[in-house]
Amino acid sequence: MRIASFQWKGRRHVGLVSADGGHISPIPLGAGEAQAGALALIESLAAGQPMPAGGEPVPLADVRLEAPIPRPRRNIFCVGRNYHAHARELSGSIFKDQPPPADMPWPIVFTKVPETVIGTGDEVHLPTGISEQIDYEAELAVVIGRGGKNIARAEAMQHVFGYTIVNDVTARDVQTRHAQWHLGKSFDTFCPMGPWIVTADELDGRNTRLRLWVNEELRQDARTSELIFDIPTLIETCSRGITLHPGDVIATGTPAGVAMGMKPPRYLKSGDLVRIEIDGIGTLSNRFV
Ligand code: MG
Repeated sequence: MRIASFQWKGRRHVGLVSADGGHISPIPLGAGEAQAGALALIESLAAGQPMPAGGEPVPLADVRLEAPIPRPRRNIFCVGRNYHAHARELSGSIFKDQPPPADMPWPIVFTKVPETVIGTGDEVHLPTGISEQIDYEAELAVVIGRGGKNIARAEAMQHVFGYTIVNDVTARDVQTRHAQWHLGKSFDTFCPMGPWIVTADELDGRNTRLRLWVNEELRQDARTSELIFDIPTLIETCSRGITLHPGDVIATGTPAGVAMGMKPPRYLKSGDLVRIEIDGIGTLSNRFV
């Protein structure tokens, strides 16, 4: 299933996207439930409730897609330096104080505030006067279904509800100025998410291809099978002593090809269109202004 949140007839709805991507069937949820986007549906499905039937299909062109979880319940878990080639390209900058990836027993985990989330087609606002080094990061994001604490690696995939795409937009100068990455990752509009959630029965996120273009230039191209810390390990790590809840989001890290890693760096400027595709999910596209 592909589960999307969207604006239609003056309010937010949640629906199932057809296989050809042309239509969406609204799920009968109360306006209050629908306001949380896919969150209420994920909670009820994770609790074992049956999937409600979708209503009459509406052309996708007649609705405005939003992030599948427009306002996550809490911060988005994010993983830093989780592809070897990306670790190499930034070994002289943000990872200069870190040991080589092979010597790291644990992943780097940080968070972005929930208010960063926007949907596909929405504009990312460049924080003029605060940062001159805005970068993109294409990432596969895991959406948690059944919650849990101290989830063992071997059981972790049973807690995956599905997958979506995240652009972990980053202000590099702010990220490097502070020991913690939180500020440089959490500006308003810095977490494009979407276009929808693909459920885990339709996609194995452990081996799919992700690509990112700035305008028409391909900048990132990798497979999630190249992750240093794989999805089960990330779920195990994030749930150690912390209860994960349905709808929690874990962004798994970005591959090589970020603007900061180019010589010289080629940061985003107003008017740039950043498009991310992940095979089996779809396209997340946002203009930077
Ligand atoms: Mg990232």
